[in-house]
Amino acid sequence: MLQNHRNKQNLGGQRLIRWGRTVDQADYCIIGGGIVGLATAYQLLLKEPGASLILLEAADTLASHQTAHNSGVIHSGIYYAPDSLKARFSKAGAQQTKEFCREHGIPFQEPGKLLVATTPPEQERLGRLEQRAGIHGLACERLDQPELSEREPNVSGLTALLIPSTGIVDYTAVARKLAELITGEGGQVITGARVTSIAEHADRVEVGTAAGRYSCGQLVACAGLQSDRLAELAGLDIDVQIIPFRGEYFELPADKSGYVRHLIYPVPDPALPFLGVHLTPTMAGTITMGPNAVLGLSRERYPKFSVDLRDVGRYLKFPGLWRVARANAATAVREVRNSLLKGSYLQECRKYAPDLTKADLLPHEAGIRAQAVRRDGTLIHDFLLSETARMIHVLNAPSPAATAALPIGEYLASKAVRLRTA
Ligand SMILES: Cc1cc2nc3c(=O)[nH]c(=O)nc-3n(C[C@H](O)[C@H](O)[C@H](O)COP(=O)(O)OP(=O)(O)OC[C@H]3O[C@@H](n4cnc5c(N)ncnc54)[C@H](O)[C@@H]3O)c2cc1C
Repeated sequence: MLQNHRNKQNLGGQRLIRWGRTVDQADYCIIGGGIVGLATAYQLLLKEPGASLILLEAADTLASHQTAHNSGVIHSGIYYAPDSLKARFSKAGAQQTKEFCREHGIPFQEPGKLLVATTPPEQERLGRLEQRAGIHGLACERLDQPELSEREPNVSGLTALLIPSTGIVDYTAVARKLAELITGEGGQVITGARVTSIAEHADRVEVGTAAGRYSCGQLVACAGLQSDRLAELAGLDIDVQIIPFRGEYFELPADKSGYVRHLIYPVPDPALPFLGVHLTPTMAGTITMGPNAVLGLSRERYPKFSVDLRDVGRYLKFPGLWRVARANAATAVREVRNSLLKGSYLQECRKYAPDLTKADLLPHEAGIRAQAVRRDGTLIHDFLLSETARMIHVLNAPSPAATAALPIGEYLASKAVRLRTA
């Protein structure tokens, strides 16, 4: 777990008395101590050294939600539409993440990824992904069946695409280093500070939290699973809601820690924003299997069957959820079945790793994805922002936002500086 920064060292801004209450004032306020908020704060202080900055995190530890519950993959960006922000940021993000790790001594590895086609239609889709890799300028190599078996004796498929640059890292280690650099530059990182009110004025934004009141010139909200609620709290009229999609994993037993050498992925369904159940070597030396994508009953509670009535009540009233459910009914039923029945889940992996058995599926903590959905039922695939004169709200930062956090942070920081000085 990350260190607690509740102590307010490096008070860069000013302390004011407003309406009889103490208010910490800063040039910038960032909401959310996940990797996107931390990267934004870090990039802001690189752009404007000496600026006063406060980062507010609801939990008692930083990076305790999506940033700590993911596959730990440094994605290459092969999947994404060439004109999307995702494509732009993930390619740059993969390079910058690796450079950041090298510079700060954070361990990472580059085992490379194999996208494995097991049926003729998947083979065809793999061909399209290979073309896309060419458009993105990504090095990749096509493997036939014997070449695949030679590299990965436990994996079977008709053909595979090897992307050597795909890596793995522990994103909480990256987040921890970012927090250290932010406080080193004079920024305040305050945990246990859930934001409960936001008021935008002509000359400032006022933010109320459990830990105190703050005022800033420019606000950037990177609240992940709560991003829609934060935008609404700030009075924005938004067309999207966050729907929590659980990503459930298993872990292979220790005697199978060398079962695969590469990351092994199925060919994804282009209609869905998720990548399919995959085998991933981790920095801890284990191999995870997953994640699936099943509708969550809570945004922030991880044990299976945890329910948050506030979260469920909210999405049941949202027409977008029902439209997504209708459009993806078959997938939804399959995902629920896979979530409830280990044997069903196993079948997903046995498509390309046929020797795995139920006994190989050991428990591993789930993650919960913040997936923004429009009222008309559109699942938003790309990053999405909403801006006012003094605020930027990140409404969708799905995978690969951990990979892409440094360039996303740079983009948000540039916008925040421009807006503050406009
Ligand atoms: C199962 C799964 C697998 C994934 N795999 C990968 C992968 O392999 N590679 C990759 O690049 N990406 C992956 N992702 C995506 C990636 O983890 C996320 O896109 C990324 O972590 C988003 O970061 P964030 O900072 O926006 O969100 P978070 O890490 O969720 O941080 C948001 C923060 O905001 C805080 N917050 C919320 N409300 C408030 C409030 N009111 N006041 C103050 N603070 C608040 C939260 O407590 C939280 O700490 C995966 C995600 C999941 C769930």
